[in-house]
Amino acid sequence: MNVEITLKDDSKRGTLPKDENTLGFGRIFTDHMFIHEFKEGMWQNPKIEPYRNLSLSPAALVLHYAQEIFEGMKAFHQQNNKGVSLFRPELNAQRMVDSAIRMDMAPYPIDYFLEALQKLVGIERKWVPSLVGTSLYIRPTMIASQEALGLKSSKEYLFYVILTPVGPYFSEGFKPIKIFVEPFFVRAVLGGTGEAKTGGNYSSSLLALKKAFDAGCSQVMWLDAIEHKYIEEVGTMNQFFVLDEVIYTAPLTGTVLRGVTRESVIQLAKDQGYKVKEEALSIDQVIEGIHSGNLSEAFGAGTAASIAPVGELFYKDKKYHINSLNVGPITQKLYDLLTGIQYGRIQDPYGWNVPIK
Ligand SMILES: *Cc1c(COP(=O)(O)O)cnc(C)c1O
Repeated sequence: MNVEITLKDDSKRGTLPKDENTLGFGRIFTDHMFIHEFKEGMWQNPKIEPYRNLSLSPAALVLHYAQEIFEGMKAFHQQNNKGVSLFRPELNAQRMVDSAIRMDMAPYPIDYFLEALQKLVGIERKWVPSLVGTSLYIRPTMIASQEALGLKSSKEYLFYVILTPVGPYFSEGFKPIKIFVEPFFVRAVLGGTGEAKTGGNYSSSLLALKKAFDAGCSQVMWLDAIEHKYIEEVGTMNQFFVLDEVIYTAPLTGTVLRGVTRESVIQLAKDQGYKVKEEALSIDQVIEGIHSGNLSEAFGAGTAASIAPVGELFYKDKKYHINSLNVGPITQKLYDLLTGIQYGRIQDPYGWNVPIK
């Protein structure tokens, strides 16, 4: 891929804040972006250029029918060799292809995806923060850009990548979060788009998220759409429970997002000798386990938060505390292993880290 690179004047470039603790999540963006157009059946004009607003027709299909997909991944400052590494980027590239197929968009080639990230993150290397818990969040996005109001798949797309240096996703840091279990609204049904990272899945979740915030919780836990009983996942994370010493997470049956962190956590847990079952627990089983004490830990897993311990469930106006609002030993162990590999604190036996050249 022949990328045309236009760099911003040195004098106009931004910098990381002096205190990386103040980064927050997705509030400032780096100096450059990658952009690639799909037109006349071909990907053309790949460019890296100064970060800018897009210019779109007000009739662009994405603005009306939400033909849009995205990815979320991170570049980590390596504590051993001071380099920068991506974490399993080929899985995000593949998932973006899968999302594109589900939304009937032009799949973005995996080799272009990986090359675009290498080039863009390479140029923006100095934007990768180094404080513990910080990283450079990467947002590959694809939108239907054709000017047309008739309901059909776009013939034109824009693929672009923007970067934002981030601190911890939850302002609480690595402390147990409170989760709102949604009894009525649903996120995904079999045959729907739950497995795709597509904007509409998130806009339709916002009303429930508001209910969650009003109840003092930071995310929504979704139950299955048929019986409102089985736990599927949490807002932007896959959900795990430790019940009777077994680690449970919902299976990938089409309604749950195929998380890269989920897959990594399952592998790490198995290699630590834990028993892992990809089986959905019902909310009743979870509440029963909390009461009996057999449900010892709960945590969410996703790129944005890595591993987030869950300390409280709020379900039908009742609060249930897990492990007395403490971080459990398995959650802590998996967090240490996962972030240890991501930040180059411990050796990566899996080859998950892909260095930026
Ligand atoms: C992105 C996302 C996840 C986590 O996926 P990762 O690849 O681990 O970041 C889980 N659930 C939903 C709904 C998501 O959007």
